[in-house]
Amino acid sequence: MVVYDDCLMGQLIVQKYGGSSVADPEKIKSVARRVAEGAAQGHRMVIVVSAMGKTTDSLVALAQAITPTPDPREMDMVLASGEQITIGLLAMALASLGHPACSFTGPQVGMITDGVHTQARIRRITAERIQTALEAGKVVVVAGFQGMTESGDITTLGRGGSDLTGVALAAALKADVCEIFTDVDGVYTADPNVVPDARKLARVSYDEMLEMAALGAKVLQARSVEFAKKFSVPVHVRSTFKPDPGTMVTREDRSMEDVVVTGVTHDRGQAKLSILRVPDRPGIASQVFGGLAKQNIVVDMIVQNIGRDGSTDISFTLPRADRQRAESALATVAKEVGASGVAADDRVAKVSIVGVGMRSHSGVAARMFETLSKENINIQMISTSEIAVSCVIEDKYAELAVRALHDAFELAKEREA
Ligand code: ADP
Ligand code: ASP
Ligand code: MG
Repeated sequence: MVVYDDCLMGQLIVQKYGGSSVADPEKIKSVARRVAEGAAQGHRMVIVVSAMGKTTDSLVALAQAITPTPDPREMDMVLASGEQITIGLLAMALASLGHPACSFTGPQVGMITDGVHTQARIRRITAERIQTALEAGKVVVVAGFQGMTESGDITTLGRGGSDLTGVALAAALKADVCEIFTDVDGVYTADPNVVPDARKLARVSYDEMLEMAALGAKVLQARSVEFAKKFSVPVHVRSTFKPDPGTMVTREDRSMEDVVVTGVTHDRGQAKLSILRVPDRPGIASQVFGGLAKQNIVVDMIVQNIGRDGSTDISFTLPRADRQRAESALATVAKEVGASGVAADDRVAKVSIVGVGMRSHSGVAARMFETLSKENINIQMISTSEIAVSCVIEDKYAELAVRALHDAFELAKEREA
């Protein structure tokens, strides 16, 4: 039985259910029961759902089977289809329980985006049909991940984008809370599927969550956290399968700074590219990265070696999915600038430590490097921000590194009150 707090009575609640929570008909029925309990208590419910299980991955594979370089507009046409199945099924399941429900696609609720297909940004949300359906006493079910350009083309909001749909609707509707229901019961100090003694965080600040998400903790999409911070949307990450409270993503307060490291994250979807023996003269970096930017390739960490004999090597990381495209763009640049060649490595991962307390504590990075060195893990690249330190390492050591760092920073221990 699901227990809702009394203080939530009569609220406007946006709930988002991820792919694993709606993976089969039984799970959809069980989500419907959970939604129905909220509705029965008088809450106005807006439910955002993802595509069932691994549907989106299968759609990507389908497109790849046609062409390795699908047209982004057509790709969005394919990708957006997954969520449309779930909304219809969930609305049917709710109706079977005696709760009138109505499903809508992103375009139908006026989710207007820019035209950057597969990575579109939300411009505005009209949400008229949601308001009308809520006023008619219906549970509203909305397809996550999708929107529409001003001229009517279907777009998607980047992988994991249903989180963004949930947060953005919560902001637009001025909902009391945005609940993100998933297959883990909150945000942990590290991926609980990798670190068995990871600890659930009761609260995490927007900034920490944003860094953790950007650095690989896929429990929330990074852009959804950015949006939540901008519009002060309270986000509650919790389990679809258990009633317990999860993690509140909120504004930072003083006590959060006492904790030096809040979480350890890893990202195994990285690749490293190097351009070898480039002439060491002014303007080279701008030519190399300008050439990549023209192809819309976003690079992450950059390292330039010390020049020798008038030439130098430049290496950088980027999402593994962009590696092929980037490698051919870089090969063109290499010819133009007179470099000797290009090297690619798909077997890299990024491990990071994140915590707002790093602003006021020293020696944190040194402790991270010492921990990796004790495990004999070579650091290939390093980058830092105000509240995070990241290292690029060989991919096969990623999980070992996360566990070692989790131990070294004593994250499994209960914090002092
Ligand atoms: P959904 O399909 O509900 O959107 P995701 O698979 O996108 O779910 O995100 C949930 C997953 O995020 C978990 O199964 C877990 O493996 C992973 N994860 C990574 N880092 C963390 C973390 N720090 N805390 C919780 N989960 C994490
Ligand atoms: N179905 C989309 C994806 O797999 C969106 C989401 O699940 O949030 O990326
Ligand atoms: Mg997700």
